[in-house]
Amino acid sequence: MPLDSRALWEKLVRLRGTAGMGDHWLWCLDFDGTLVDIASRPDAIMVPPTMVADLHRLAARPEQTVAIISGRTLADLRRYLGDEPNLWLSGDHGGQIMGPNFHWNYPITARHRHRLETLCRQWIEAATSLPGVMVEPKPYSFSIHYRLAAESVKQALYSIIKQTRWPTDMVLKESHQCFEVHLSLGPTKGRAVVEIMRHLGVARSRLITVAFGDDQTDEDMFLALQTGITVRVSPAPVDTAAQYQVPNPDAVRELIHWMAAD
Ligand SMILES: [Mg+2]
Repeated sequence: MPLDSRALWEKLVRLRGTAGMGDHWLWCLDFDGTLVDIASRPDAIMVPPTMVADLHRLAARPEQTVAIISGRTLADLRRYLGDEPNLWLSGDHGGQIMGPNFHWNYPITARHRHRLETLCRQWIEAATSLPGVMVEPKPYSFSIHYRLAAESVKQALYSIIKQTRWPTDMVLKESHQCFEVHLSLGPTKGRAVVEIMRHLGVARSRLITVAFGDDQTDEDMFLALQTGITVRVSPAPVDTAAQYQVPNPDAVRELIHWMAAD
């Protein structure tokens, strides 16, 4: 059972008080459902300007690295979070990473890309008979959104998903009102944070990592950062590898605001 918000606050207050010269913080933050509330459509989210300002302020500090690690594309993240050069962004579940003087793409073979694109095309076709279901192609995965589908369509989609024999080199993950299809040997959020840590080059003993996420794709990140602070965002009890749980994005924004304040 993860510990609650109060225990998390106590831990962070203590760490902030004892962190010394040479210690470096790495914040790994999912976006949808973690920093911003889930909306009816991916483009209907509300991004509070104060949160963006807090992220920029925190990222500008030399002893802090802030990385937004999301299933969205890099271009989409930049649109919502601005062009702050100190802010790290990772898009498509770790497929792409951009940081200060750093740009990285997950290496993918032409064969794998072709297989992914073919499967995605089949799903785009299948979705035409499922009103409200939208398939979103991405460079390293695709998403099957069903937030806008009627209950009967959702049930139809679930049974198709269940009956589908997924190729062994593909993996299906469930997100909020959405399925994500990835390459099993493809990028994950866990691999992305390892890549960012490698680039930072800070000794593991001096690195304080704090990771927040709200769905199954974030669990890879929690597993990669087990020695740090890991926080699952969920209003209800949930099966997670994270040590802490907070109920909603409000709680995350409050913590970031406190951390960003002088
Ligand atoms: Mg999320």
